[in-house]
Amino acid sequence: MLKSIIAILFGLSLLTACGGGNSEAEKEPEIMAEESSEATLSIAGNDQMQFDKKELTVKAGQKVTLILNHTGTMAKSVMGHNWVLLTPGTDVATFAEKAVAAGEANDYIPSEGDAVIAHTKLIGGGESATVEFTAPVAGSYEFICSYPGHWAMMRGTLIVE
Ligand code: ZN
Repeated sequence: MLKSIIAILFGLSLLTACGGGNSEAEKEPEIMAEESSEATLSIAGNDQMQFDKKELTVKAGQKVTLILNHTGTMAKSVMGHNWVLLTPGTDVATFAEKAVAAGEANDYIPSEGDAVIAHTKLIGGGESATVEFTAPVAGSYEFICSYPGHWAMMRGTLIVE
């Protein structure tokens, strides 16, 4: 669908350009880049209870693939990490309490409520997890690790442009 729209737009620009062949050829890659509808993000958590990134950026409506890597060696039960994207306005401290109550069996993800836009499973050292979601409307969205006590250090912002 996108490709056919791009092809039509490109065709129209060729028709109207009439003779500017060289510059049109250079424009095509730019058009393709702007229309990119997918984004892949990666973020790592370590044994020091830290994410390696405080900020991630995507564009509204993009199909996002986020890969969480646990670069430490400690077990999930003592140094578990997940990546949880929260809706704007969520009180993180209150959410974190609910996450603790949800327990490790639920990857520290509360079952009720609409505070979670997307989340990975909980992983231990050497493991990785992937989650796919559609980037919401433009704005700033907080992400955390919801393992008990981690959110104070393991938090950041997903910027949707
Ligand atoms: Zn963690």
